[in-house]
Amino acid sequence: MAKQGNKKNKAFSWDYAPALEGISHLNIKEKYDLFIDGKFVKPSSCKYFDTINPATEERISQIAHGSEIDVDKAVKAARRAYVNVWSKTSPSERAKYIYRIARLMQERARELAVIETLDSGKVITESRDIDIPLACNHFFYYAGWADKLEYAFPNRKVESLGVVGQITPWNFPLLMAAWKIAPALAAGNTVVLKPAETTSLTALKLAEIIKDSGLPNGVVNIITGYGDTGAAIVNHKDINKIAFTGSTQVGKIIQKSIAGTDKRVTLELGGKSANIILDDAPIDQAVEGIVNGIFFNQGHVCSAGSRLFVQEGVADIVINKLKRRMDKLIIGDPLDKNTDVGAINSKEQLKTINDYIKIGKDQGAKIHQSSSKAPKKGYYCVPTIFTDVAQSNRIVQEEIFGPVLTVQTFRTIDEVIQKANNSPYGLAAGIWSDKGSRVFNLSSKLKAGVIWANTYNKFDPTSPFGGYKESGFGREGGLHGLRAYVNLK
Ligand code: NAD
Ligand code: MN
Repeated sequence: MAKQGNKKNKAFSWDYAPALEGISHLNIKEKYDLFIDGKFVKPSSCKYFDTINPATEERISQIAHGSEIDVDKAVKAARRAYVNVWSKTSPSERAKYIYRIARLMQERARELAVIETLDSGKVITESRDIDIPLACNHFFYYAGWADKLEYAFPNRKVESLGVVGQITPWNFPLLMAAWKIAPALAAGNTVVLKPAETTSLTALKLAEIIKDSGLPNGVVNIITGYGDTGAAIVNHKDINKIAFTGSTQVGKIIQKSIAGTDKRVTLELGGKSANIILDDAPIDQAVEGIVNGIFFNQGHVCSAGSRLFVQEGVADIVINKLKRRMDKLIIGDPLDKNTDVGAINSKEQLKTINDYIKIGKDQGAKIHQSSSKAPKKGYYCVPTIFTDVAQSNRIVQEEIFGPVLTVQTFRTIDEVIQKANNSPYGLAAGIWSDKGSRVFNLSSKLKAGVIWANTYNKFDPTSPFGGYKESGFGREGGLHGLRAYVNLK
């Protein structure tokens, strides 16, 4: 029997009985080595670090810390594979390998989803229904292009780049690896990839899958480690392109390091995206869209709708409905299918978020937090909104990367365009309105790479994704994503 819910919501809600996803089927090793030249090998330093389940604060496994020496081995393996094998493999053969990887991922989807949830803290319903299927679909989609490059870029001679170095963040671990590896392989390149240090496990599972797929040795190499490992990839002389997704701060370091070299680069960086509710918007859908925009994956989404703009006529009703909806969100065990809001990825990230919440209060903004309770153990942050904020407040200007929303109101369209564009970032935006003409007018004036209308945080392999300004340059997904991995003559 389900227990009755917390006092405040007594009349309306009950706690659901737990619906935990099982973990007994998992096969997680105690220690993971580096994946170089088709084999798992020990790191030259013999050093390993722990990967933690943020919901329990317990160690899941140990991960190899790759050094410059290991990166060099991986780049050499990738170069050999490029010269001797992959550049000579016919495009249709390349496609078969990529399809095979996609199918093997699908077969192991449940295992991948559960491991993603354990390692990252994101709720199982997201990793099961969004991350893993989308990751598979990226491989399927780019497999389809591998033997059609001359149609992708008509009347041009298409060449691969060579060895590409790829560095990914912790918020969508397997999905980000798929965004990077699939188009690189389809275009005929070989890869050295470094996943984020707090969420390496699914990339290592992908290494197992790649091994099982029979992909020639050295075509994909996976080197785990911290920022120094990433820097060793960026600075390696024999890399032709760097693809980076992560913070703007590290993106700037990377851009400086490769200045003056002939390396290509694409950077997918941070965001502070505006979610704009016009007075003719479908209010209930918009409230769901706000929740999805900022509380989905605990706000660990580069495109999170972290700045809400509501037109004055509907501001009170939207904010009241939003607060009521926040009180109903279930915070807790990410493995439980009832959970809406899982764990923050790391202790460090939780501290960053809590520091920003304090800054918001100190700068005079009015805070409202969900009345739902978070578990005592684990890294959790209760969904939080700030009203009475000023455009100059740090919580409005800076990326928090957590479940924290700032709320501003506006009267005219010109006003909201100015405010929304007044940001160093320009990754995404959302517009809620009943009228297509209002949506088209706003979307043509917002400086954001991705704009959603009457929806939020929707991703698809065929659709390019990327930012303006300090949110980076280059696009991933779709034909644009393929373009980033070829030379056109
Ligand atoms: P981060 O920049 O700290 O780390 C990203 C990756 O870079 C990690 O693998 C890290 O080990 C590595 N790294 C760190 N220092 C490095 C260095 N000096 N040289 C090379 N590599 C280095 O970012 P994070 O905290 O993992 O991720 C959160 C950030 O990523 C947020 O700002 C978010 O907006 C951004 N992000 C952007 C997108 C996008 O598509 N635009 C997608 C997801 C995340
Ligand atoms: Mn972890």
